[in-house]
Amino acid sequence: MGSYEDFYRRSLDQPEAFWAEQARLIDWEHPFEQVLDASRPPFARWFVGGRTNLCHNAVDRHLATRAHQPALVFESSETDERRQYTYAQLHAEVNRMAAMLRALGVARGDRVIVYMPMVPEAVFTLLACARLGAIHSVVFGGFAAHSLAVRIDDARPALLVTADAGMRAGKVVPYKPLVDEALTLARHPPAQVLVFDRGLVSGSPFIPGRDVDFATLGREHEGAQVPVTWLESSEPSYILYTSGTTGRPKGVQRDTGGYAVALAASMRHIYTGQPGEAMFTASDIGWVVGHSYIVYGPLLNGMTTVLYEGLPIRPDAGVWWRLVEQLRVSVMFTSPTAIRVLKKQDAAFLKRHDTSHLRYLFLAGEPLDAPTHAWISDALPSTQVLDNYWQTETGWPILGPCPGVQARPRKLGSPGTAMYGYRVKLLDGLSGAEVTAPNQKGVLVIEPPLPPGCLSTVWGDDARFVSTYFTSFEQPVYNTFDWATRDEDGDYFILGRTDDVINVAGHRLGTREIEEAISGHPGVAEVAVVGVKDELKGQVVMAFVVPKDPARLQREEDRAVLEREVMDTVGRTLGAVARPAGVLLVAHLPKTRSGKLLRRGIQAVAEGRETGDLTTIEDPGALEAIQAALKARGPGV
Ligand code: ATP
Ligand code: MG
Repeated sequence: MGSYEDFYRRSLDQPEAFWAEQARLIDWEHPFEQVLDASRPPFARWFVGGRTNLCHNAVDRHLATRAHQPALVFESSETDERRQYTYAQLHAEVNRMAAMLRALGVARGDRVIVYMPMVPEAVFTLLACARLGAIHSVVFGGFAAHSLAVRIDDARPALLVTADAGMRAGKVVPYKPLVDEALTLARHPPAQVLVFDRGLVSGSPFIPGRDVDFATLGREHEGAQVPVTWLESSEPSYILYTSGTTGRPKGVQRDTGGYAVALAASMRHIYTGQPGEAMFTASDIGWVVGHSYIVYGPLLNGMTTVLYEGLPIRPDAGVWWRLVEQLRVSVMFTSPTAIRVLKKQDAAFLKRHDTSHLRYLFLAGEPLDAPTHAWISDALPSTQVLDNYWQTETGWPILGPCPGVQARPRKLGSPGTAMYGYRVKLLDGLSGAEVTAPNQKGVLVIEPPLPPGCLSTVWGDDARFVSTYFTSFEQPVYNTFDWATRDEDGDYFILGRTDDVINVAGHRLGTREIEEAISGHPGVAEVAVVGVKDELKGQVVMAFVVPKDPARLQREEDRAVLEREVMDTVGRTLGAVARPAGVLLVAHLPKTRSGKLLRRGIQAVAEGRETGDLTTIEDPGALEAIQAALKARGPGV
């Protein structure tokens, strides 16, 4: 094994040789003629002229060697179901599904909206689209009718695939009525809707001529075989709309060949799953993590993937770890938010299961605070807990560890170093000058070309791709819109989003560093920090803190003590400028469905503005409670 430094250098200095080598990890029906075409920057085309197919590489390719190995294990703690599919069975299901889609007129290049709960049929649908060369666009099942309609109008699908309902925390969440409503709101509704009836709700009427019953159509195509449609490497595989934490959703468009190579390479170098082992990504197929590491990544790598419907703490906080034990999961992936949910329970729920096969737990999507990292590391004694940083746009990590090449010491609070293929830089937010000195703040940018697997454009809008991501600075670099520092060893620390930066009397402070300081206080369970407009200072820091002991919310004196301590903690660790002007204790923080803090919403409420469109909010009550608490407290911070 060489050093990561050499591996990384080679990926930047000889990208064509480097990626041509990685491209051998997948099958090509026709070899590519050119590794990279960067003649029209900032656009990049990878493996030009090569023909391949994601479904072939994820399924068919493994039939010769692992037909009888489990490919997909589905477990629902909501419906108490478990289903398991070998690669041979997955192949049969995907072929049948492809035949069904074809019968409904879906062809190469057509869009298919997938609005489904976490059931195997959703995975079959994605793979069947890939088989046909159709472009899937999964819309997260928690999105309301309006959000679904906006995405439908942007993608203009030929078909929408849905189910009667999902389930969450024991409650039925109807899907079909939402689809019906979205289709009346949409200007470009699909002509057909394929409905998978799980038998969870009855009585959502079928619209004749539009709605098609999944089971009935499925019976007609039992045993069907559908040949793979080979795509040129740059042909789109899917569209995934960004989660919308920061505004109007963008259709992130992914290619085919570059994505397949990037994922196969990441499985080997970053996630280090071995073919034949089990990987459990506890996320949702509606998010990018679900696309890359529930569906495509593990299957491309010949692993068993685990599809889990339900919460991490139902029926109790041992549910995931029982699966880890039973399926001998070796690699797991989830979000820090999920770990914070577990952390409120007893660590004994984890410790009573044999998790000794679990080599790695990867966490991404939100900053991983040190206390949460420490708690989960302690609860899983044989497992390394590793942070990694990326975006819907990139499809795989920008920053992280690379244990498949070389294990490096972990640093609490850092997702790691730049991943191979990414020319990462920090630029001064104002001047755009490169920040080269260690531990200085800068905006995290990537010099094009973006490596394989990253978005190739914004669906239907090349101009928006360029103007959104490449025009923040004089140089045409990709802007992540995150703020970071890099230390002497090349390890990065994410400080927050650039639009979360708080400007107090000319000092620019990252929300993340202040939150990190506050979460170090033993009485704090969770915290959100926002900048609030101030006549004198421009902005002041305001902290919203969820105490570990909910009883503290009740007693006035108790509250005052904790509020004061939180202010002092920040003053001590970061200095007087960062000291919050106000601290408010609350019971919950508003989050998106993917578990991200909705700082934008909190900030709007704190400034007495309209919150705007917050369709992705998980719990609107949390924001209303903050509003009420602010009102009760009186004017001023
Ligand atoms: P939108 O772009 O629509 O506003 P979003 O940015 O929340 O939505 P994602 O692409 O899922 O949607 O999230 C990527 C962002 O999440 C990153 O830009 C970063 O702000 C944050 N993030 C992801 N991983 C990490 C990590 N390991 N540490 C800190 N922040 C992270
Ligand atoms: Mg984003």
